[in-house]
Amino acid sequence: MPLDHRLSPELDELRRTVADFAHDVVAPKIGDFYERHEFPYEIVREMGRMGLFGLPFPEEYGGMGGDYMALGIVLEELARVDSSVAITLEAGVSLGAMPIHLFGTDEQKAEWLPRLCSGEILGAFGLTEPDGGSDAGATRTTARLDEATNEWVINGTKCFITNSGTDITGLVTVTAVTGRTEAGKPLISSIIVPSGTPGFTVAAPYSKVGWNASDTRELSFADVRVPAANLLGSEGRGYAQFLRILDEGRIAIAALATGLAQGCVDESVKYAKERHAFGRPIGANQAIQFKIADMEMKAYTARLAWRDAASRLVAGEPFKKEAALAKLHSSTIAVDNARDATQIHGGYGFMNEYPVARMWRDSKILEIGEGTSEVQRMLIARELGLVG
Ligand SMILES: Cc1cc2nc3c(=O)[nH]c(=O)nc-3n(C[C@H](O)[C@H](O)[C@H](O)COP(=O)(O)OP(=O)(O)OC[C@H]3O[C@@H](n4cnc5c(N)ncnc54)[C@H](O)[C@@H]3O)c2cc1C
Repeated sequence: MPLDHRLSPELDELRRTVADFAHDVVAPKIGDFYERHEFPYEIVREMGRMGLFGLPFPEEYGGMGGDYMALGIVLEELARVDSSVAITLEAGVSLGAMPIHLFGTDEQKAEWLPRLCSGEILGAFGLTEPDGGSDAGATRTTARLDEATNEWVINGTKCFITNSGTDITGLVTVTAVTGRTEAGKPLISSIIVPSGTPGFTVAAPYSKVGWNASDTRELSFADVRVPAANLLGSEGRGYAQFLRILDEGRIAIAALATGLAQGCVDESVKYAKERHAFGRPIGANQAIQFKIADMEMKAYTARLAWRDAASRLVAGEPFKKEAALAKLHSSTIAVDNARDATQIHGGYGFMNEYPVARMWRDSKILEIGEGTSEVQRMLIARELGLVG
């Protein structure tokens, strides 16, 4: 059957609504937040009012009853204008709320999902540790069940955790070693830690190269006690859970990267028509035209790739390889397009007041976060039957 990734009328309307929001609300304000390294609460609140944080979740929890395709469409349109707000949404949905939706008990869903869906609170997912991100199975954070109080006692450190320290962060789901198998292998489990739990410390925001209007922190846990009922799913399932979360998240990051790549085309076309050199618009030069044509080609193929992966996920088909391919391709071409768009803007491309400067700074992390490009290649090679 031929692939058809054209949008339904409903999805196209969602796309246009979010595109208008990105242009009318995000674009005029985000540069200032970015320069001040400030979290854009008013924009995030508005995204909550639009229902974006509840996009792929059931209506019974206040969600919009959509799916990963709808989420990708929204992320692409947001990132076309700005990546900080896009990653705030991506992390809030894919890393914050999705683990509870997929693996939580009815009680956990009832307690957390309505507020996560409305954007009243943000959730975060703490997997990466100072000693390793790619090798996430090597987690050193521990959680011991205190049978006297029926509480988990958590100790350890997580680093680079998105959405973990805002004024509206409600919870962080952390992975921790809760025991060993008979063969001595670590049992990794996921545990929900509400913000403000004693012993749970959130560091000051990192000083980052990009994504400067998004929240990223180091977290430490010193004898943090949470009820035994905060375990997500069953004990020892944490590794399988985060593999699933990351597989899905890669589609979302691929859509976001495609948006950044397309935003670079938008800005370059505009600038190439406006900017004159040697008595004519720079866009009259074939060298510039070809560069922009290549940028458009890259954004187009990246879009096909993430939509293909998303449509497989939505159809309940295997999508691991396609998600890794989409993430690898889209992040590579986002970096390419950001470099070329900056070049087309000349000296102005190096000035922060131009969106392409922000896109350039925001592009590199796409090759690192939610699995580096090397990790994507490892996954693809494994899916091809090559084992290292
Ligand atoms: C802004 C930002 C936000 C983030 N948000 C979150 C979040 O919300 N939650 C979370 O848990 N994490 C988050 N991360 C962490 C991110 O997912 C990790 O940084 C990433 O997975 C890489 O891990 P690492 O930094 O430890 O690098 P390492 O794993 O130390 O890798 C270093 C380098 O070695 C390469 N490498 C490692 N192993 C191999 C191998 N076997 N073969 C070939 N090359 C290899 C890597 O590809 C990389 O180039 C965030 C990071 C950033 C910067």
